[in-house]
Amino acid sequence: MSVEAQKILVIEDEEKIAAALRAYLENAGYGVITAADGEAGLAAFYETNPDLIVLDLMLPKVPGEVVCGEIRLESRIPIIMLTAKSGEDDKLSGFALGADDYVTKPFSPRELIARIRSLLRRCCDGISPMYKSMSWNGGELEIEFESRTVRKNGTEVSLTPSEFKILSSLVKYPGKVFTRDELIDRALGEDFDGFERTIDSHVKNLRGKIEDDTANPKYVITVRGAGYRFGVRK
Ligand code: CA
Repeated sequence: MSVEAQKILVIEDEEKIAAALRAYLENAGYGVITAADGEAGLAAFYETNPDLIVLDLMLPKVPGEVVCGEIRLESRIPIIMLTAKSGEDDKLSGFALGADDYVTKPFSPRELIARIRSLLRRCCDGISPMYKSMSWNGGELEIEFESRTVRKNGTEVSLTPSEFKILSSLVKYPGKVFTRDELIDRALGEDFDGFERTIDSHVKNLRGKIEDDTANPKYVITVRGAGYRFGVRK
């Protein structure tokens, strides 16, 4: 009995690294697709429907952060970012990439495979954020994911578990529009048997806690006829 191998898309321009990753991943039982630049990587993502992406940050044609952003508009596929050891950390912390994990080069293939296994196990469900904390508008709004702390202008605001899950779902996928159904799945869970509009009342309460003007929200944005997305308006 054969089970179809899970497919990993490796987007990496350094041939030696790509070849080594292919060998290690195939040896670990995964199917491997490689792409040598960002443009080819995006094309391969659309064509091959992989289960997970290993994405180098510094890529020719289309850089890794743009590839990541484009994929995130479409998909919650797990993404592991490969970053160079120095210099890129600062750059990384400056924006929300939407990656699920990252390893710095040079990395141990064994460690990378362990992370791939763990991400595939957790696949798509309560994915842990790439950062321990994020902040917007010069610290006006801050989230610490592990402690589930949210601060507005330096003062802790108390969110319900559902409000926190809605907010953290939105911020993990910048630009993505979540339907009410998707937010119910992520924030309220499968046991939830209420109505879609329940999400609206959670959002209303959430806005009351984190927005300056709930009639003109700048973080939790309504997308008419679709749902909600995270935005950062000044
Ligand atoms: Ca590179």
